[in-house]
Amino acid sequence: MALMKSWVESANAADCPFPLNNLPYGVFSNGEDEARCGVAIGDMILDVTLLEEEGVLVVDEDDPVFDLPFWNDFMEMGTEAWTALRARLTTLLTDGGDDAISGNADLKSRALVAQSDAEMHMPIVVTEYTDFYAGRHHATNVGTMFRGAENALPPNWLHIPIGYNGRASSVIVSGTDVRRPWGQLKSPDHDMPAFLPCRRFDLELEMGAIVGTSSDGPITVQEADDNIFGYVLLNDWSARDIQAWEYQPLGPFQAKATATTISPWIVTKAALEPFRCDTPAREFELLPHLKDVGPMLYDIDLSVTLAPEGKDATTIAETNYSQMYYSAAQQLAHHTTAGSPMNVGDLLGSGTISGPTKSERGSLLELSWGGKEPMTLDTGEARTFLEDGDTLTLHGAAKGDGYQIGFGDCTGAVLPALKDPYAR
Ligand code: MN
Repeated sequence: MALMKSWVESANAADCPFPLNNLPYGVFSNGEDEARCGVAIGDMILDVTLLEEEGVLVVDEDDPVFDLPFWNDFMEMGTEAWTALRARLTTLLTDGGDDAISGNADLKSRALVAQSDAEMHMPIVVTEYTDFYAGRHHATNVGTMFRGAENALPPNWLHIPIGYNGRASSVIVSGTDVRRPWGQLKSPDHDMPAFLPCRRFDLELEMGAIVGTSSDGPITVQEADDNIFGYVLLNDWSARDIQAWEYQPLGPFQAKATATTISPWIVTKAALEPFRCDTPAREFELLPHLKDVGPMLYDIDLSVTLAPEGKDATTIAETNYSQMYYSAAQQLAHHTTAGSPMNVGDLLGSGTISGPTKSERGSLLELSWGGKEPMTLDTGEARTFLEDGDTLTLHGAAKGDGYQIGFGDCTGAVLPALKDPYAR
């Protein structure tokens, strides 16, 4: 596939994250105006809410779909509507296509908003949030640190995608600051735990899959893939010292309850089609209901940058989504096996994505090997875990022939812990 040309000139640059091939969905506001649905094209946002009001985009003939600032109502309409909207937007934005916008100077000036003038909001109402642990290199690294190389992967790991139910209420959009949490910690040097600000605050480089079609009861891997609407970058902020003390036997709880940041644009499954790739070779054959039924991972380059307060950013990790052992479709299929309904707006975190080499590790826990091997930033500063004032950013793009499908940054700065979390 090659670059599709748009009359929005900035969309045609080879390094533009939002060419016509992409068309990711988000929610934005511009100045005092209420938040609206939009699609990114080049360095602009096309105001989908306005186009529906003006009758240029008709998704449902009876009711407006984009009169609320989130994409859940549209997702709920199903795959035919998803395909139809993408086709209509493509026609409207193609160089030489339908000139309903390009040929109407007044509408064009009102419908296109510069991304630099816009504030981004949560693109969906997250109905529920689950996070997995499905990157083999990450699980092996963490397991080696905590249990030794012999017991690195738990015995179930190669047979089911391990996960835990997280908090939808803690999911926030890129650009929102994250405050260092307090929690119960137990230092190996002390007999008793203490309630203190987290000292080992960390990131997890992940992708998030968004469920666009609900289900009630077990679904196949193919059905699960069909039900996924799109993908975002996801940072699962993690308090490692809280996690180490609390995680047995029921898994992470408060360590993961501070915040989960997602990138503002939902990149649709349709935009990622040319980049599908297979999961890695299987050590054990998966049980039939979890077996791969086609390429369901994606070739997406990922990286992480860390910028100390007021200083330049250093790239601290570079890897690829194709390193996952389980696809989001397999995770979603597994999630439904015991009968749990899945809802439109369900968010599934992939699990930390790490590659086989040191520079491909998707968390500071791994990069600093449990805090024992500090890394040196380009500024000369050392880091084991995140410091107050650090800005952490995830970047992602699928690279095509003369174009790329970008995700938009997934960023957040670390604020210092409150002096007293119970002060009233
Ligand atoms: Mn995670």
